[in-house]
Amino acid sequence: MTNRQMETLCEIYSLYEKQTENAAIACHKYCSDCCTTSVTMTRLEGLLILDAVSKKIVTDPISELFDNNVPRFKPRLSTNAYVAACRTATDTPVDDETGDQTGICPFLENNACRIYPVRPFGCRCMISTTKCDQNGYAEIDDYTLTLNTVFLQFIEHLDQDGYFGNMGDVLIYLSSGNEKIPETCNVTPNHPIPALMVPPAHRGRIADLINTLDHLIRSS
Ligand code: SF4
Ligand code: SF4
Repeated sequence: MTNRQMETLCEIYSLYEKQTENAAIACHKYCSDCCTTSVTMTRLEGLLILDAVSKKIVTDPISELFDNNVPRFKPRLSTNAYVAACRTATDTPVDDETGDQTGICPFLENNACRIYPVRPFGCRCMISTTKCDQNGYAEIDDYTLTLNTVFLQFIEHLDQDGYFGNMGDVLIYLSSGNEKIPETCNVTPNHPIPALMVPPAHRGRIADLINTLDHLIRSS
């Protein structure tokens, strides 16, 4: 883990913001129905959050914020592991352990995010063309879905000797200072990119961006 990797992660976040800054989305400040305990992230993203937390952005202990009893989505596979499984499996792989049980994200306070500048990519890519409280779900166009998947794949590739999991599990594990992943901790190893999940219809449009991401990762 190097400072350069952390800088690269922030550069990737900035690149995503540029890609989506003119998108026609309904998201706005204090709109927070999507701020649940379903957020997933990599170890590197967790380290960025803990660095901010250590500077007293958030004073509550992580273990209290993410109590083990809080229901949360627990992925069985990282994004790249899921992609690899899809390439070889005859059926769609099962990617979670506990279904869609979810609670309110403990970083949410008065409908605002307490860690907004360092929120993980799982929060950044949660955008919708219509207000979620109208339909009860987010609406995302096909190209943005491809964009999000490609960014998730590169972010994991950047931290390929790390791990992936629910934001709460990753933060609890990182805060514990353990060297080895305990069996009770629901995190799963990261993987390098096996292939990028880009449908043929989006390949031309996303090609330059993939080159930029590839360059960023190689220079980190
Ligand atoms: S994804 Fe939905 S709930 Fe979240 S900010 Fe956008 S419109 Fe609001
Ligand atoms: S970390 Fe922030 S943006 Fe992400 S779900 Fe929690 S409150 Fe919302």
